[in-house]
This record gives sequence, C-alpha cells and structure tokens, in this order.
Amino acid sequence: APGDLLARRDRTFASVQEHYFDEPPVIVRGWKQYLIDADARVYLDVLNNVTAIGHAHPRLASVVARQLRTLNTNSRFNYPAVVEFSERLTALLPDDLDTVFLVNSGSEAVELALRLARAATDREGVLAMREAYHGWTGLADAVSTSIADNPQALATRPGWVHTVESPNSYRGTHRGAEASVYGLEAAAEVHRLAAEGTPVGAVIAETFYGNAGGIPLPDGYLEAVYAAVREHGGVAIADEVQVGYGRLGEWFWGFEQQGVVPDIVAVAKAMGNGHPLGAVVTTRAIADRFRTQGYFFSSAGGSPVSCVVGLTVLDVLRDERLQENATIVGAHLARRLRELGDRHPLVGAVHGSGLYLGLEFVRDRDTLEPATEETEAICERLRELGVIVQPTSDRQCVLKIKPPLCLTVADADAFVDRLDEVLTSGW
Ligand code: PMP
Repeated sequence: APGDLLARRDRTFASVQEHYFDEPPVIVRGWKQYLIDADARVYLDVLNNVTAIGHAHPRLASVVARQLRTLNTNSRFNYPAVVEFSERLTALLPDDLDTVFLVNSGSEAVELALRLARAATDREGVLAMREAYHGWTGLADAVSTSIADNPQALATRPGWVHTVESPNSYRGTHRGAEASVYGLEAAAEVHRLAAEGTPVGAVIAETFYGNAGGIPLPDGYLEAVYAAVREHGGVAIADEVQVGYGRLGEWFWGFEQQGVVPDIVAVAKAMGNGHPLGAVVTTRAIADRFRTQGYFFSSAGGSPVSCVVGLTVLDVLRDERLQENATIVGAHLARRLRELGDRHPLVGAVHGSGLYLGLEFVRDRDTLEPATEETEAICERLRELGVIVQPTSDRQCVLKIKPPLCLTVADADAFVDRLDEVLTSGW
C-alpha cells in the first residue's frame, strides 16, 4: 500500500529529503511525458525537466544495456564514446568553448566551474544574483542565494560571495523601471568591488532566470555584467543546468537569448535524461590554468555508459525535432495559459519561453502578494486530476512548467483544461 512505502521511506530518509505532495503516488513506470502509478493511473508529467527526451526512451534503454554488456570504465582510459561525446558537445557551443570536463551532476559542474575560475584568475570573489540556486556542494551552495531552498541563504554567505539584486523583472525592486537598470546596478557593484581592491574573479548566473520562475533576464543584462567583470580581469560562468539543451525552444542555450558568450558553461540535467551526467565546457586557456592544481579525475564522470547516454540524447533531440516541438507546443501552451488569466484573477503572469514556463499566482495584481498556499493546494488538486506539477521561486507561488520536450498540443490542452477546472471550482 502507498502508506506503507511512505512510512518505510520516512524511516530511512531524513525529513529534509522532502517528497512531492502530501500523499505522493507510488510511481512504477514512466513513458514519454507520462508517469504511471501502482494502480495503473496515468499522470501527465508537466514538471520533470530532467527527462527531456521523455521517460523510458527505448533508444536510450537499448544503448545503455548494450554498453553495460560491453564496457564500462573511467575516462583515464581512452575509448571512442568519450571522444565522440566531447566533440559533439563542443560542436554545440561557440568556437572558443572547445575543452570539456565530464562529471555527474549539475552541482559538480558548477563546483568545477567555480574552481576553474579561481585557478584562471587567482581570485576568490564571485558575483551571484539573489534568488539563485546553483547546487548543494561547497562552492555551489555558497553562491546559491535562494531562500526557498535555504531560509538562511543570505545570512550565511561566506565573505567571497557578493550578491546583487535578483534580475526578476516581474517582482524585482525596480519594478516598472527600465529593465536595463538591473544590469547597470550589477555592473556598478563589480566596479565598486574592483575600486576597493577586491575585484571578483567570476560572475555566475543562470542565463534565463529559472529559479525565479522561468523569467527571461532583462535585455542586455548579461552583456553589461560580463563586460564589467571582464574589464577587471574576471571570467563569466553560465549556469545552463536547467535552461540549456533546447528547452527554451528558440535557443539551444540561454546565453544565446542574451547575445553573449560565456567563458565557462556548466551543463547537466537534460544532457543525461536522468542518468547522472554533467559537464563543464570552457576555453583551452582557462582549462590549462587548472593544470596547476595537479590532475583532475572523476571516477564515473565521462564513463562509456554516460557518454553513450549523452550521445543518444543528442541524437533523439535531433531526430525527433524536440527543440522545434518545444517552440510550437510551448507557444500554444503559453497562449492558453494567458487566456486563463483573462478569467481567473489569481493568474498574475505567464513567464518563460518554449517549454520552460512559469505561471505565477498572486492574490492581488497590484501588490503582487504571492498566492503561496493557493499554489500548493492547486498542485495537490491537479495531482488528483492526473497532472504532476510543483511550485518554484523564493515565494513558491509559480507553477514550474517544464515537461519532457515531447509534450503534445493535446497534452497542453488537457493540462490547461484541468487547471481551468481547479481555478473555477476552487481548491
Ligand atoms: N544549477 C541549477 C540552475 C539547478 O537548477 C540545479 C538543480 N536544480 C543545479 C545547478 C544542481 O544540479 P544537480 O541537482 O544535478 O546537482
């Protein structure tokens, strides 16, 4: 029974390892954009951005099985898959980003990106945005400022982390002002730190504001910040862990939408479709400075199995034209969600691009009072109606809409219809 499994889980897991939902269903299968529970109930998965090509993809399953039967080892050996995957990854990025480190997760990728920046600049200071999440390991956690993940996040920053206003154009303190003010303010902070003799070695930012609820950064934001950081000899780190890999529809990477090229890019999540796989891609010059640290090695990072997973995910993205699907289905879904806003005052805004959308619920469209409890209750009701979705942002009042990229127009309609039902009948 679901209750038994939950009790057993709670006995072995710490309470801090929260699960989704008050009464989580017992999930036994995944298929494309659907999850199936122990009673054969089918849920539409509007949440899981990691399984970008869909759950239980048969092409992925068969290459993993074949590779496990043939060879799995570590990347201090040489084998075709590690070379082929590294080449495919760099081919997706601007020319100067030609050097790859393969790891196992987003946190590891961010951790390594920050260490590379330190080695390249001999500086400790890092500029981070408020309302950000970058991972749970030491350095990644230090630059994670989101109070949703850690209420103490801002109070406990080490001295080397410098934060600037969240570039959340919907709710930031500069609401209503010219969007360029966010970039100017962040650049001014970079210049101020340099003038004080403590210039930052790096800036780290998501290239599209995922953690704030899927909000595009203000136009010119990263251009202004990157220019200021580089002027004082620092480097720019793009966290593409949530954003990259075609989810935005029009752009494969978030930094393309901002018209910038970072020095170091951290990638994970979608690239492994749920298999632990992360990467850092940087310039040869930055990577070579890291040589002073000795050698770099990750036991499972870049294993043959991980690399064939990475290659197959890219093949499927291409062959099934999933980035295009994200553009088309995402635009349809965003339009239908905006229409909901005409009838339901709780809808404050529809953020995002492609299949990276955020539906923000507010109690008042002028004060933007967050509808946090309502959002949680709506998620519970939607689960009862067969839709899996969860809140995000510091205020937990944004529905995080990041389904597998194979979501269909019919699925999008089904989701909006269920949501309409919940908003009409109450939660
Ligand atoms: N960066 C961002 C922007 C993320 O959203 C996450 C995970 N939510 C991470 C880094 C950390 O990735 P992981 O959970 O794979 O360690």
